[in-house]
Amino acid sequence: MPTERVLVTGGAGFLGSHLVDRLLDAGHEVLCVDNFFTGARGNVRHMLNHPRFELLRHDVTFPLYVEVDRIYNLACPASPIHYQRDPVQTTKTSVLGAINMLGLAKRLHIPILQASTSEVYGDPEIHPQTEAYWGKVNPIGPRSCYDEGKRAAETLFFDYHRQNGLDVKVIRIFNTYGPRMDMNDGRVVSNFIVQALKGEPITIYGDGNQTRSFCYVDDLIDGMIRLMGTKPGFTGPVNVGNPVEFTMKELAEAVIRLTGSDSAIEYRPLPQDDPRQRKPDISLAQDHLGWQPHVPLEDGLKPTIAYFRDLLDA
Ligand code: NAD
Ligand code: UDP
Ligand code: UDP
Repeated sequence: MPTERVLVTGGAGFLGSHLVDRLLDAGHEVLCVDNFFTGARGNVRHMLNHPRFELLRHDVTFPLYVEVDRIYNLACPASPIHYQRDPVQTTKTSVLGAINMLGLAKRLHIPILQASTSEVYGDPEIHPQTEAYWGKVNPIGPRSCYDEGKRAAETLFFDYHRQNGLDVKVIRIFNTYGPRMDMNDGRVVSNFIVQALKGEPITIYGDGNQTRSFCYVDDLIDGMIRLMGTKPGFTGPVNVGNPVEFTMKELAEAVIRLTGSDSAIEYRPLPQDDPRQRKPDISLAQDHLGWQPHVPLEDGLKPTIAYFRDLLDA
């Protein structure tokens, strides 16, 4: 593949920094744009002296004039604690960020990928979710700034595609975990691991029988890069995630076993609008991207636990 200049918005975040690593390894030049709303300097510190890496502190809700060959648009706080801190800014980031990045892609006639989310399905009535499912989303609830912002961003991507012939790609990412997840973002994987390592009680919300499917970050990034590599005209949306479901109880037990912790389990109330079940149908990714996840939960939890252990020891 010829080397290119690739823009990654949200490149200092959890997924963005792994994507940047992979793009640099593949020989590309990377322009990382991030306003550090949730991203951590530590995620990109190891790249700062890389000759093909450039970091620009910028908020994507404002226009951006740069010259690049491709755009991965990942900028957006992703966990409820972060996206609910300033919900108006969350919607602005999704909507105005999409408009600005699409405007940039339109001016340069370049492909652009949007990091969308399984949350566009809301609290789904069908399992597993295929891309044809339109979702069941509350437009006015506490999660709406994220869910509806991401839905509006998808709308913009498809309208720029139809109206301006833009080469767009939309990936619907399901729960992903791995090293560089934010320790304090309240996500279940980071919460359970940190609680287990500190010997604190593991907090299960609700009865713990709700399920999620967890994709290891390396698998996810592989799917994202494959989607970007598809022919113009292949837009998606494509689900990328791990279809193997676990209950939160099972996750807690796996974390306790792998950390060797003696933490007890504590039950707390279920947050409002918390989906009961979420599981991707990945047939489209298998057929069109030749992609499927390879890392089983236990294999992915081990490096993730090691990452948090290092952070806590530091
Ligand atoms: P993250 O919070 O670690 O990364 C998001 C990055 O975007 C951060 O570095 C943040 O500082 C930056 N950002 C936020 N607002 C910005 C703005 N206005 N301008 C510039 N930068 C801004 O989250 P993540 O888990 O790496 O998620 C990356 C993308 O993937 C997000 O778009 C998210 O919605 C999507 N996604 C993630 C998951 C997951 O499981 N991690 C699931 C579905 C979708
Ligand atoms: N934009 C940008 N960088 C560019 C080109 C456009 O940030 O290189 C922004 C621009 O500010 C505009 C948005 O993208 O508000 C949408 O651009 P588009 O050309 O679609 O719309 P218009 O400029 O006609 O409003
Ligand atoms: N959860 C939990 N304990 C925690 C954090 C989360 O039981 O300490 C539950 C949460 O209620 C949800 C599931 O774990 O049912 C996944 O939550 P997360 O915020 O990680 O992801 P999302 O709800 O966005 O899929």
